[in-house]
Amino acid sequence: MKKIIKPRPTVPAEMSASDSIYYRKPGNESVVGAGTYGKVFKAIHIYTQDKVALKKIRMEGERDGFPITAVREIRLLQHLRHKHVVALQEVMVEKNECFMVFEYLSHDMTGLINHPTFTLTPGHKKHLAKQMFEGLDYLHRRGVLHRDIKAANILISNTGILKFADFGLARFYTKSHQNDYTNRVITIWYRPPELLLGETQYGPAVDIWSAACVFVEMFTRKAIFPGEGTELSQLDKVYAMLGTPTRNDWPRIVDLPWFELMQPVERKKRQFETQYRDVFTTAALDLVTKMFRYDPIKRPNAEEVLEHPYFVEEQPKPEQAVELEQVSGDWHEYESKQMRRENERRRKEEYVREREKRKATEAGLKDGKGEAEGQMEKKQKISAGGGGGGGSRPASREGGKATAPTTTTAVGSHARS
Ligand code: ADP
Repeated sequence: MKKIIKPRPTVPAEMSASDSIYYRKPGNESVVGAGTYGKVFKAIHIYTQDKVALKKIRMEGERDGFPITAVREIRLLQHLRHKHVVALQEVMVEKNECFMVFEYLSHDMTGLINHPTFTLTPGHKKHLAKQMFEGLDYLHRRGVLHRDIKAANILISNTGILKFADFGLARFYTKSHQNDYTNRVITIWYRPPELLLGETQYGPAVDIWSAACVFVEMFTRKAIFPGEGTELSQLDKVYAMLGTPTRNDWPRIVDLPWFELMQPVERKKRQFETQYRDVFTTAALDLVTKMFRYDPIKRPNAEEVLEHPYFVEEQPKPEQAVELEQVSGDWHEYESKQMRRENERRRKEEYVREREKRKATEAGLKDGKGEAEGQMEKKQKISAGGGGGGGSRPASREGGKATAPTTTTAVGSHARS
């Protein structure tokens, strides 16, 4: 019988030296995310060439063994399989380090929103929002609260497919009866008012609030409620935009643990409609208004959001951002922060250069004057001595000025070093 010999898999030269099955560029070159709990690297499976994201589980400072957030994330993700949830392929231990291995997506929402050239069309935004609420609908049906929805935790592929990531704070919740959960979840700018007021018996409406914040951010490119980091200042931001809540808006507000503690000093008038009238279409404005209702039981659930006229009636129709395939490079929060830092550095450098140039020009003018006068004296001496020649041209005012660029260049290079 003829033996079928399978060809040996070949590995590209640059990867053949890799001592891991997942090749990544050395040092920080392959970092695409630096989260709270560790770094995320872009890597390639050396045989299949599939791209993966390696999320390193930070073990330093862990007294009780494997970090609980990682355990929670792995356990949850093993139960989740959906088009709009990032797929956990395996957990790998390598050289005493532990990694979660995920399918790789080229962008996240923060990166895309801050992209220097690519802009989302109204149809793209609608398609991304639709996928976001489809993903959320799946999670909530499965009894999972994400509890950390924000732009950086929403991944987008280079063909415009959206997936939720970072399930480190997620948990299963019981739909039939109310349990107590911690209220210290969700990045503070995306945290709903009930959590800011100490609620521990909450449900999927907390994710709807955060998703609404992301939705607004897609249109404005900035966070809607950028507080200063404390619960009090965060509530202030929310009240300043949506108006101080009344008992009519939210009858149960008075029962919340921190209601008395967080009583605002003055009543704020609602600004939202005037501020956002020109940002949104009629249907989009109506949808956001509903998702930002103070009383969590009055907020629409993910399924109801998807049935809203914004998605099912109003033009344009959702349109997949396939154009992303033409965008060069990967754009996550990490790269956009790097770009911002680099731009700031350049701006500062430019400012210093300009200042030094100005100083040098002023100094040059003075020196030039001195030099021109000096040259005159010299010339007079030379001609008195009977000499002469090409080098003895009288230095003019321009000649004085002409020395300035040399000085500027020197100063310029000094500023750069
Ligand atoms: P942490 O829990 O440490 O905050 P995350 O899971 O939020 O880590 O990941 C941090 C960043 O890494 C994300 O904001 C995203 O930009 C990037 N990232 C995470 N998972 C992936 C992935 N599967 N593909 C591409 N980038 C990813």
